[in-house]
Formats: sequence, C-alpha cells, structure tokens
Amino acid sequence: MRILANDGIDAVGKQLLEQAGFFVDTNNIPQDQLPEALKNYDAITVRSATQVRKDLIDACPNLKLIGRGGVGMDNIDVVYAKNKGITVVNTPAASSPSVAELVFAHLFTGIRFLHDSNRKMPVEGNTAFNKLKKAYAGGIELKGKKIGIIGFGRIGRETAKIALGLGMEVLAYDLYEVPSELELSLAGGVKVNVPVRSAEFNELITEADFISLHIPFLDKPIIGAEEFRRMKPGIGIVNCSRGGTVDEKALVEALDSGIVAFAGLDVFDNEPTPAEELLKHPKISLTPHIGAATNEAQERIGVELAGLIIDFFKK
Ligand code: NAD
Repeated sequence: MRILANDGIDAVGKQLLEQAGFFVDTNNIPQDQLPEALKNYDAITVRSATQVRKDLIDACPNLKLIGRGGVGMDNIDVVYAKNKGITVVNTPAASSPSVAELVFAHLFTGIRFLHDSNRKMPVEGNTAFNKLKKAYAGGIELKGKKIGIIGFGRIGRETAKIALGLGMEVLAYDLYEVPSELELSLAGGVKVNVPVRSAEFNELITEADFISLHIPFLDKPIIGAEEFRRMKPGIGIVNCSRGGTVDEKALVEALDSGIVAFAGLDVFDNEPTPAEELLKHPKISLTPHIGAATNEAQERIGVELAGLIIDFFKK
C-alpha cells in the first residue's frame, strides 16, 4: 500500500506506518501535478495546504482513503469523496490542548502589550527605556476576570480548563448543551471539578472581559459591529478558530474606538495574506495559523492518523 503524505507527517506516525508495511512518500507534490502523481497511491494524507477537490478525486480512481491531520476539512470535498466510496478520516482531538494554549499566549500577550513592546525594543539610554516602561505599564491580570467562550466543543473546553486553572470565571455559549462543570487534571494526578456557567450569546458578549472563539466557519461573522457595541469597553478578543467568524473591519474600528483593548488572531479572512490594517495594528497580536503547530500536537496527529490508516487497510 502506498501513502502520499503530501503535507508531511510526524516521524513517529511515519514509522508506525512503515512498520505496518506501508510505503510512505513525504514528498510535497505541487497541487497542479497531483492529479497525475496521486494515481500511483492508495491514500493521501494532508494538513490544511493540499486541496483534495472533485477534480483530483475524479483523476485518481485508485484512491481509497483521504486522511486529514487535524480538524477542519475545508480543503477536502468530503461528501463527494464519500459518495465515490472513498473513506475520509481526520484527527479532531489531537491538537486541542495546543490551540487552547495558544489562546492564552495571545491573552497574556494582550494584557501586558508584549506584541507591541517587542516591536519597540531595544532602545538606547535611560530616558527612552523609561518612556517604554511608562508606555507599557497599566497591564491587567487574567485572574478573577470573566472569559466568554463561544463554541464549547473540544478546543473551547480545553481553553475553559486553562482559564479555570488560572482562577478565571468561564461563561460558555454553544448551540448544544454546555456541561455545568469541567474536570481539571492537575499535577500529581489530582482531579477537581470546577463549575462553568452556560450563557446566552447576548449575556456572554455583554458580561465577558475576554472572548475566545472556538466555532467552525460560518456563513457570516458571529461578531460584527453590532456585537462590539454591546461589549464591555476594554475587552480582549482572541480568535484561534477560523477566519470569517469575526468581522475584521468592525474589529479594527472597535480597537480604534477603544471598545476592544486588544485582539489576538491566529486566523484571518484572507489567508495567507491578512489585511494590512491587521498586520500593522499596535493592538493586535498575530500568529500565522499555528494553533496546532506544536511538536506534541503534530506527534499525536501523526500517531492517530497512522492508526486510522492501518485499521482501515488491515480490516
Ligand atoms: P468542535 O466541533 O469540537 O467544537 C465546535 C463547537 O462549536 C461545537 O460544540 C458546536 O456545537 C459549536 N458551534 C457551532 N456553530 C456554532 C454557533 N453558531 N454558535 C455557537 N456554537 C457553535 O471543534 P473544535 O475541535 O473545538 O474546533 C473549533 C474551531 O477551531 C474550528 O473552527 C477548527 O477548525 C478550529 N481549529 C483551529 C486551529 C488553529 O490552528 N488555529 C486548529 C484546530 C482547530
């Protein structure tokens, strides 16, 4: 069996596949050459870069499985593939802790202006240094504040657990029922149950000190100008979910008017070229869609994907 891991696969996952007798090719074949090249493989694994659309599926009648390392299947024509008898698998839970930790990287950055002070340092001399000290004083703490989590699935819950561990209050909004408490696993094997509060959307956006989004891509933004107007002035917004869930133009206006104190963005409307106003904004901390890009998450993704592929072909 031949597997093309076109966007790469973690070394441990590759090894598991090879030990099970699979040939794994990690060459990154350009998109326009894939219809010809993929004919020689039984399965393809992708992350978010390679597109597996109808034309590619039609060109490769030998294809039996498409594996997505990660969650979002936006780059795969899943229904079309399934109708053609191709199995499509992904590894939804493997990256959740890493994405949740990135949310807090952005939150800590925002409350202490790290993104902006990094841009301004180093400076020469005491006067300039003291000016910076003054400019970046006035930070705040997360402890004791309310975080509103929109979308209480895998990553939303991981985010909530970190927040609860920091002594924050969690308001959670989802289309489905929100649990009344979450179990936190602490060092030394200690487990404690900590309450979360299920909130209506309006309650969440008006009460939260910080909002973190963890929903899939929707037809239109869930947060736009009208929602920003109802938020507490000085709120911090983090989006590590999907571009398009927050109206970027309204976000910049809310940052400029002071309603929003800072934003942390890992995802954008126009990836891979986010709008200039976002890139240059002093109140925005930016990362290039790296939520799942930790060594630990990539290893979990590779191992899970390998297991799914082995199970499928050895059935
Ligand atoms: P999930 O399916 O476990 O959770 C999503 C939750 O959102 C579900 O509970 C669902 O009921 C809820 N939801 C859907 N539409 C909603 C709406 N309109 N209002 C309120 N709730 C709604 O997904 P997940 O694994 O937690 O992933 C969340 C998001 O993070 C996805 O968009 C995913 O693509 C993205 N993601 C980003 C990165 C990254 O690198 N930044 C990595 C992994 C996942």
